[in-house]
Amino acid sequence: MQDQSFNPFHMAQAQFDHVADLLELDKSARQLLRNPMREYHFNIPVRMDGGAVEVFRGFRVQHNDARGPGKGGIRFHPQETINTVRALAMWMTWKCAVVDIPLGGSKGGVICDPHNLSAREQEQLCRGWVRQVARDVGPLADVPAPDVMTSAQHMLWMLDEYETIHGAKYPGFITGKPVGMGGSLGRREATGYGVIYTVREALRELDLQPQNTLASVQGFGNVSQYAIELFNEMGGKVICVSCWDQDDQTSYTFRKNSGIVLEELRSITDHFGGISKDRAKDLGYEVLPGEAWLEQEADILMPAAIENQITKDNVEKIHSRVRIIAEGANGPTTPEADQVIHKRNIFLIPDFLANAGGVTCSYFEQVQSNINYFWEKEDVLGRLDTKMTAAFQAVSEMAKKRNLYMREAAYVISVNRVAQACKDRGWI
Ligand code: GLU
Repeated sequence: MQDQSFNPFHMAQAQFDHVADLLELDKSARQLLRNPMREYHFNIPVRMDGGAVEVFRGFRVQHNDARGPGKGGIRFHPQETINTVRALAMWMTWKCAVVDIPLGGSKGGVICDPHNLSAREQEQLCRGWVRQVARDVGPLADVPAPDVMTSAQHMLWMLDEYETIHGAKYPGFITGKPVGMGGSLGRREATGYGVIYTVREALRELDLQPQNTLASVQGFGNVSQYAIELFNEMGGKVICVSCWDQDDQTSYTFRKNSGIVLEELRSITDHFGGISKDRAKDLGYEVLPGEAWLEQEADILMPAAIENQITKDNVEKIHSRVRIIAEGANGPTTPEADQVIHKRNIFLIPDFLANAGGVTCSYFEQVQSNINYFWEKEDVLGRLDTKMTAAFQAVSEMAKKRNLYMREAAYVISVNRVAQACKDRGWI
């Protein structure tokens, strides 16, 4: 379960403060960057199928747009908080900067559990979210995308509402749209594949062969499934995945020592990434407690679910075999746990580098939408690999040159780029 006292925004600010000290940033840059530029909090009334109206709380936070329009997903989550959205918006700023795409950082959210909403209710919620911020977002201002528990279908409803309000077609308003409706081939795979492009580079640095490595993964949503797909293609073996069980309101780890079979697990998974426990047992999976994924004798750990998962209370359980942690999720590791990982000399691929493939492909989607010409999938994935590999190498070189932990090195590059853009614009 999530620790309710955990404040992800304080964590994001602490990470920023640490790097601001390292970079000796001046006071104005610190003031500007440690808080969002703008935020919107609003009510979304939805008429439910039963006839009654329920009011949902929604948010959009625009952290910084000095390098280009704000960019970032919208999460549907029952435990969503404004502080989570603030942290995620800030991390988007650093994410777009580390892969050097001309976009800023934003994030949105709605406090809701889509498991309990019909398709019609979800559509109304999407349209209602857009109605509340339609004048404050847009292709040249702030561009939303999918995130935890939101999909291409949600993006299309949002686009349709935005275009209805503004009376014209604006395919660049939102990314993660369905292919054939302005979406990009490869967008579905992009975040998970991006994680594995960086894992491949880390393995190379450590002189390890993918075919000799075992991975343990937390999460079985979009990021995790495509990360597993590409890791398997490279010859690596995933021994377990852990995910949330909606019926039991807890999580479980599903292990198969011979390696989990992606297609088999996909066939018993709901579209929010929840695996059916009984059917998994029938297929020969061992069902362990949710946290067991972290204790596995594996070479690579991939937390690819949500924030605040590797904490001071469980970090010591990480097996001595682990060489790489690739953060597919945003903010999965708390600062105390991070110090332990650093001390143990585990090669960390920090979240806003490891999972930047999604937003990089979103940027490609915008480019394609703008020219109204769509690329082949190989073309998209080839460009994605080039971008992710270049970003990884820049961070790794910075880490070596200045003797920094990978997270610090990524922050140094991003914060420098964003602070410079603010200075060049004459903001500070
Ligand atoms: N939600 C994804 C992320 O956290 C993608 C954002 C986007 O494509 O704008 O990076």
